[in-house]
Amino acid sequence: MGENNKQPAFACRQCGECCCGDKGILVTPSEAEALAAFLRLTLEELQSRFLIDSPLGPQLATLNGACVFLADNRCRVHPVKPRICREWPFLPALLKHADEFEAAKEACPGLAQGCSHEEFRLLGKAGGHTIA
Ligand code: SF4
Ligand code: SF4
Repeated sequence: MGENNKQPAFACRQCGECCCGDKGILVTPSEAEALAAFLRLTLEELQSRFLIDSPLGPQLATLNGACVFLADNRCRVHPVKPRICREWPFLPALLKHADEFEAAKEACPGLAQGCSHEEFRLLGKAGGHTIA
């Protein structure tokens, strides 16, 4: 019973914090196509309104210090958001490096402070999570 009462290792609070700042969310060609279709835009319109160029390729633009698609702490393109957004916080770097995981715990209130890196890795392998 004690285990059932334990705070889950990850439960998104939908605070929108992971969508703030300049995260450099890269967008692949297929993700750009999905975004454009979802927003009923041409690829050119998507590019000019919502993407910026970077040395690594196109990435999501920011507006007022947050992703251009963040509105009221919710993602306006949730069904088609880029892979990195869907995977957060179970990103390869966090699964691999305990120090990066600890830093993420400071930034993401959805990660239980008592969660060990091993628990996080096991949850990541299990695959199930949702984010804002
Ligand atoms: S696409 Fe959605 S989930 Fe990804 S950073 Fe932007 S608002 Fe957040
Ligand atoms: S994943 Fe974390 S930082 Fe992002 S919205 Fe959920 S609780 Fe907030």
